[in-house]
Amino acid sequence: MTDSNPSVSNNFIAKIIQEDLSTGKVQKVVTRFPPEPNGYLHVGHAKSICLNFGVAEQFGGECNLRFDDTNPEKENQEYIDAIKDDVTWLGFQWAGEIHYASDYFDQLHDWAVYLIGEGKAYVCDLSPDEIREYRGTLTEPGKNSPYRERSVEENLDLFARMRAGEFDEGTKALRAKIDMSSPNMNLRDPIIYRIRKAHHHQTGDKWCIYPTYDYTHGQSDAIEGITHSVCTLEFEDHKPLYNWFIANLPVPATPTQYEFGRLNLDYTVTSKRKLKFLVDEAVVAGWDDPRMPTISGMRRRGFTPRSVRNFCDMIGVTRSDGMVDVAMLEHALRDDLNKNAPRAMAVIKPLKVVIENLPEGHIEQLSAPFHPELDLGSRDMPFTRELFIDQDDFKEEYSKKFKKKFTPGNRIRLRFGYVLECISYDKDADGNVTLVRANLIENTLGVDPEDGVKPKGVVHWVSASECKTAELRQYERLFTHPSPDKTDGDFMEYVNRDSLTVTTAMIEPALADVAAESNFQFEREGYYVADRYDHSPSAPVFNLTIGLREDKALLG
Ligand code: ATP
Ligand code: MG
Repeated sequence: MTDSNPSVSNNFIAKIIQEDLSTGKVQKVVTRFPPEPNGYLHVGHAKSICLNFGVAEQFGGECNLRFDDTNPEKENQEYIDAIKDDVTWLGFQWAGEIHYASDYFDQLHDWAVYLIGEGKAYVCDLSPDEIREYRGTLTEPGKNSPYRERSVEENLDLFARMRAGEFDEGTKALRAKIDMSSPNMNLRDPIIYRIRKAHHHQTGDKWCIYPTYDYTHGQSDAIEGITHSVCTLEFEDHKPLYNWFIANLPVPATPTQYEFGRLNLDYTVTSKRKLKFLVDEAVVAGWDDPRMPTISGMRRRGFTPRSVRNFCDMIGVTRSDGMVDVAMLEHALRDDLNKNAPRAMAVIKPLKVVIENLPEGHIEQLSAPFHPELDLGSRDMPFTRELFIDQDDFKEEYSKKFKKKFTPGNRIRLRFGYVLECISYDKDADGNVTLVRANLIENTLGVDPEDGVKPKGVVHWVSASECKTAELRQYERLFTHPSPDKTDGDFMEYVNRDSLTVTTAMIEPALADVAAESNFQFEREGYYVADRYDHSPSAPVFNLTIGLREDKALLG
């Protein structure tokens, strides 16, 4: 990790771990991050990654990366690769090999047979709809399935035949025999195996029955020796079931589940299903579109791993779900870039300036540091007779309000360069200023003019003959509503269809050669990043990461 001062958290999970280590309840903490590979990870997952890997790091333990792959139809290798990439990019390393819940399918199957043998599981012939109906409601107990009292022998036979592929999907399921009148719906004979005649990305066609998430999760934790199984609050009601399986199976360890509040961000959708919808409907260019709140989208947008980790530290970990202001994420991003991003110059609305007292072909390399405080080195900025400055830095008439602008008869300093004095300007038939003429004031590199007439303003600039043209991709928030998926309407109603504007900028030549994913502050313009995929020295492409100031909120 680039951060020299790794954060030490003192959240309630860290406290529990500290306590368990000091009482000797556990010798070494082992956590896991268990994504289902059914989509790309988003900023909410970053919170879970930082928590699980973070506490393992903090207490000298380990964190596993486990793909929770029990729904083969919705999962695929692309998602697996993207998730691995995201975790690595954030600066974390999983312990040992990657784990897959599917690695345990044989064991899970054997344990299902064991439960049948113990009279604690049965094959049920009710249809999925009937099972739902029999389950009852929060206020009414459920009803026992008519198949609940099947003998062990019959159940073993039927389960073996389910596995052999004799039955159609939805015609049979294996259920745990717990309590149909439990106030906790999760204990009303939950399904532990269902028939799915689906090809699996890891196990191929070996199985046509697949274990459910609830049945798989805790046992996978036990197999891996997870000490603290940390998940989000919606699983609180599943904990008694998690514990029931652990108590009723000959598992090698007894992990404990702990729940924390998930991250919700305003102006943002954090549901893989909805994010997938945006991709499928081509509202965005893909899962890693820079407007997406996915980790790969944020990466492409110009977030640094440190900014994401700092954000996760800032929001902390609590036992309640809250809504976090997207301004906090923006703050973490801007703060990191302000401290660490090199500076460079790009002119987005170019206006040509001709320096009349310089000869044609004049070229001089001015040296400009990349950062005002950090030692990030410097680059050469070619200074020539014709330059570009920003249109907004020129005004036709001087006024107090425009005293820092370039106006006829007035002076301006070129950033890291000389002082110029404006002589005259040209306009086209529509009244647009097309060219400014100026004189260079001699001996003003880094010092005030000898005649004592100091310039008030400093402008960014590039050489007109030496600059390169870059494509700029400017982004706005993807959603126009603070809680797009929590209104009565469809979240798609709040999509900002104009959230991408493509334009060009004149960039100093050094910027063309930078590596993809290099972050910069374009002085006086904003923070930009060289696009991860499309940037090249011959065709530079930069994405707007975020504006310079708080009032320019840009993230979606
Ligand atoms: P779904 O289960 O609907 O596909 P999910 O977002 O729960 O979506 P998982 O792949 O199961 O996706 O998530 C992996 C881990 O990340 C889980 O432990 C989950 O609790 C955690 N997680 C998911 N969303 C958030 C969030 N918004 N904030 C914090 N943690 C999250
Ligand atoms: Mg989930």
